[in-house]
Amino acid sequence: MPSHRAVRVADAAKFQLNRPDRMSQVLLEVQNLKVHFPVRGGWLRRRREFVRAVDGVSFHLAAGETLGLVGESGCGKTTLGRAILRLVEPTAGRVWLEGEDLTQLNGAALRTRRRKLQMIFQDPYSSLNPRMTVEDIVGEALDIHGLAPGRAARRARVAELLEAVGLDPAHALRYPHEFSGGQRQRIGIARALAVEPKLIVCDEPVSALDVSVQAQIINLLQDLQRQRGLAYLFIAHDLAVVEHISHRIMVMYLGQVVELAEAKTLLRAPKHPYTQALISAVPEVDPDTQRRRIVLPGDVPSPIHPPVGCRFHPRCPMAQWPRCRDESPALREVEPGHWAACHFAK
Ligand code: SF4
Repeated sequence: MPSHRAVRVADAAKFQLNRPDRMSQVLLEVQNLKVHFPVRGGWLRRRREFVRAVDGVSFHLAAGETLGLVGESGCGKTTLGRAILRLVEPTAGRVWLEGEDLTQLNGAALRTRRRKLQMIFQDPYSSLNPRMTVEDIVGEALDIHGLAPGRAARRARVAELLEAVGLDPAHALRYPHEFSGGQRQRIGIARALAVEPKLIVCDEPVSALDVSVQAQIINLLQDLQRQRGLAYLFIAHDLAVVEHISHRIMVMYLGQVVELAEAKTLLRAPKHPYTQALISAVPEVDPDTQRRRIVLPGDVPSPIHPPVGCRFHPRCPMAQWPRCRDESPALREVEPGHWAACHFAK
């Protein structure tokens, strides 16, 4: 009888069919993760209800891989990223990093392991302390983990990190407001790199930047990945951005994964009607290739009372009654490495 762990690794291996060797090692494994936030509802707001921000998400991420995570705003992407780092507490589920369950760790043990996981944010300015110099912002992480003891070693390491992200080390004593948006994002990346992480959760890192600066930051992230073997969970609402950086793409809708596949496959032949609608909204570079835009009716339903059956059925142009209304579709492997949660995906 195989152990539970052996079964999970075997499942993870299924995700990796046809994938290059450099991606063969599972770094992160997320299993049935849920994050439900309590809110007050009902008459006189006496009833305790829950926002099901993340509702049973499972996936894995290999060393050196970029997994793009897309979906409309409010679908649970950012909460999922934060729950992996335990910046919000999961309600249920497991997060394994190199075979160790982070959800079971606390205090010093969690802090030590969390060094391997870092996050960069959408708004680099609000995530940088305006009263600290760049040297102190980047050096703080080194201090916490005792990675460059002594003033000279700290200064040299900060200079090295600034150079690695394309900033001039001579500007280390400047403050965040003295830098442009793109440069501030580079400071955020240097701070994340300071502790030599294995995985960086990138939460919409280029959404607030001009298009030309977006490309520079994406190129920088790709260079750093090649040099340091980093893995990224790259969160974005814009498929066009994710397309350039991701090896695989995962699509979320109302707190759940609806599709997961190699990036090229997902963009060329999406199986889920929601992914098809998202892709139809991406402008074509070639004006001769015209996509038919799929406009979804209505808004995303409330994550407090998600629709029963398939959560997408009130907006789905392919829905079939009564099955889609009554029966929740499982995320299943419809082709090797291509997973979709739709009764009719094939
Ligand atoms: Fe649409 Fe039904 Fe598929 Fe859900 S299961 S995505 S409602 S066709």
